Order: sequence, then structure tokens, then C-alpha cells
Amino acid sequence: MKTKSEINQFFLEHAIDVPCICGNHTGWSVSKYGRYGNRIEATLCYRCGHVWAKKQLKESDLKEFYAFYYRELYSNGKGLKNSEAFKPRIEASKKNILSLFNKYVNNGSNSLVVEWGCGAGWNLIPFQESGIRVIGYDLDIEYTRFGKEEYNLNLHTINDYIPDEGLKLEADFLILNHVLEHVTTPEVFLKSLVKLLKAETGLFYIGLPVIESLPIWGYRNFFHIAHLHYFSGRYFVQWMKYLGFEPLEIKHEQGIYLFKYKNDTKNISARLNFRLYNFVLIVYYYIKYIIIYSFLFRIYENSKILKYLWRTFKSFFGRKNYHGK
Ligand SMILES: [Zn+2]
Repeated sequence: MKTKSEINQFFLEHAIDVPCICGNHTGWSVSKYGRYGNRIEATLCYRCGHVWAKKQLKESDLKEFYAFYYRELYSNGKGLKNSEAFKPRIEASKKNILSLFNKYVNNGSNSLVVEWGCGAGWNLIPFQESGIRVIGYDLDIEYTRFGKEEYNLNLHTINDYIPDEGLKLEADFLILNHVLEHVTTPEVFLKSLVKLLKAETGLFYIGLPVIESLPIWGYRNFFHIAHLHYFSGRYFVQWMKYLGFEPLEIKHEQGIYLFKYKNDTKNISARLNFRLYNFVLIVYYYIKYIIIYSFLFRIYENSKILKYLWRTFKSFFGRKNYHGK
């Protein structure tokens, strides 16, 4: 078990400066510290407007971080290996992921659904219950074991988040839910995942915490030591077009997207200039946060004054009880 200060210390000693996904190094700091008090330096790029964590761990240190430090921070060491923790996730998967699958995939019962970064497989349960073939992959050996034992899911442990060259799946529907923001090189990662999709018809579901969905977490909690990228939904969709994907479904407020892969050639006409849009979004949410924060603080302060007035009032007019009579 690691304490929060040990985790902070580990991060401070190992973090390095990394550039934005566009290659630029300079930007405007939008949040120096993350949710758990680590100095991540979330920065808005001066060139393209993307928000990224300027301080990141190297690949080798990231593995150590996830193996020994992350779970402790995130769930106080308890993890999510119980059916109570599963319930809301299964429901969310039914509502957000399975519904999109049913909308876009014909002949769904003969399909193969693959999730990369599946945890214990909670997103796959509604698919399995509908008689659809599922396979899940995750780095966490304890999670995959739990999903296999408790829910009889077809889950596998992987050693690297980039799929093996030899892995051939031909998935009809590939799920990547809240994974992309954790990855140091999202472009390389996405390109490696495309190979798992069935050519022409395979669909790619991606869920991620986009800036438009910031109110779900609140400004203070949105920036997070394990998140290396803070895409805005609009930036993300444009960036995906640039990488050769075609968006079929876009839900910015929830951070839910469905894509079809078109081709390998980069769509250079998809320009990445979101400086103003991302800047306005961030400033808007920051001001909102400050207003709400100061409002709550004022209520708290006022409540102290009211309590004082009430006590004074009581001492003047309240019933006095001398010597227990
Ligand atoms: Zn950039």
C-alpha cells in the first residue's frame, strides 16, 4: 500500500516534459495540478489548441505506476471487483454502447464484439446476455480473472496496450471506453487497433472524457494524473477525420463516438485549429466553477454568521435553566 505522498513523490521524480500531439511544446497552463494534487501541468497548445498533460511518465514508469500506485489512488485500494461496483457500469453499457450496436449492426447475433481495455468486462455483459460473441482484453490480471470467474466472460490478459502483430480478430464492433486518454501516443495506438476490425464494415466505438463533458466531473476533478490527453469533442472528431475515420455518431456531452475506418491516407484537409474553441470552452467552465465555488463558500460563511446570530438570540431570549431547576 502506497500513501498519497509516496505516489506524489514517485510522480515528481519520474515525470518528464512531453510535447502536444501536434509536436508543439508551448502552451497555456489550464490546470497545474490534477485531481489528486500531482503536478501534471495540463496545457492548451498554442498551435492546435489541444489540451495535454505536459508532465508525463515514461512508458516504463507508467507500467510501474499502473501496477503499484494507480489503483490505490483511484479506489483507495478497493478496486472494482464486486458485483455492486459492476451494476451501474453494466447499465451504462446497455444504455450507451449496446443501443448503438443495435442501431448500426445488422445481423447482430452473428457478430463479434471486442473490447480493448475491458477491465473486468462489465461493458461486455449486456452483449453476452443478448447472445453476441464477445472477447475482452486488459492489462490487469486481477480484473480479467474476476470477469472470467464471476461472469464467465471470454477475457484475456495482455502485456502491452499495443496489440500483438499476430492477433487476428475481424471484429464487427470494437469498444475502446475511457482508454485513449491514458495513452502516450494515441495516434499509433488507434492505428494498431484498426487492424482488429473487420475490413470495410467494422465499427469503432470510443468513449472518452471530452472537455464538453467537463461538468460531469467539475473543473477541479476533470484534470487527472492518469489522463494524458483532454480532447474537446470537436477537436477529437476532426483529428479522427484527419487519421482516416468517418464519424457515424457524435455525442459531445457524454463523450460518446462511433466511427467507421475509411483508409490509411491522412485527410490533410481536416485542419486542426481549435485554439479559440478550446480556449473559450475552458475559460467558460473555469468561470462557472469559480462562481459556483465562491457561491458555496458564501453560503458556508453566511451559515456561520446565521449560527452566531441564532446563538446570540437564544442567549437573550431563550429559556434559562439555573442550577438544574
Ligand atoms: Zn498542439
